[in-house]
Amino acid sequence: MERHSGDSGWIEVITGSMFSGKSEELIRRLRRAQIARRKVQIFKPMIDERYSEEHIVSHSEMKIESQIVKSANEILAAAAMDTEVIGIDEGQFFDQDLIRVANQLADQGKRVIIAGLDMDYLGRPFEPMPMLLAIAEDITKTRAICVRCGSPATYTQRLIASRERVVVGAAEAYEARCRSCFDPHLSEKTGD
Ligand code: ADP
Ligand code: ZN
Repeated sequence: MERHSGDSGWIEVITGSMFSGKSEELIRRLRRAQIARRKVQIFKPMIDERYSEEHIVSHSEMKIESQIVKSANEILAAAAMDTEVIGIDEGQFFDQDLIRVANQLADQGKRVIIAGLDMDYLGRPFEPMPMLLAIAEDITKTRAICVRCGSPATYTQRLIASRERVVVGAAEAYEARCRSCFDPHLSEKTGD
């Protein structure tokens, strides 16, 4: 995004299904900020322990150092005054406070980049991402490839039986599917 007049910051949101390249795109933007010698701080929520404790790691093995936080307010407390760019991954696992926190950081003049799932395994908007889309200056919707038919995929198909909204997993538990191939009831049919 081009910088506009004044010292104000802004909010960028990268959203889409699993495997759509959200983490890759987040890491790419943060790397470029580091190359430009901006002071960058990167956060991810406690819940995501899939790949690495101290890194954001994409499904394609791209990674970047990050700090784990338990809540959105912890990001606000941990953000240094002179930090220019804040990266946040797995935005859907944060509480509703993330909306106020993102606004406050942007008001302080920081560029805030948040990646996260737009929908849960049933295709329902995954809070707080819809609210973040509303307040963001810039939105990127990423799409995966449907593993069934090769079309662009916007849904995250859960492959295992569970009605919990949050089940942490990768390729063994989820796959990307297009609207025609997506079956929200599959996770019930497989029986539990
Ligand atoms: P996200 O953060 O959206 O889950 P990642 O950035 O972690 O996505 O991973 C994206 C990478 O996942 C792609 O570049 C590709 O290498 C890999 N990948 C695996 N399955 C798929 C798929 N069905 N569609 C697109 N990319 C996939
Ligand atoms: Zn399909």
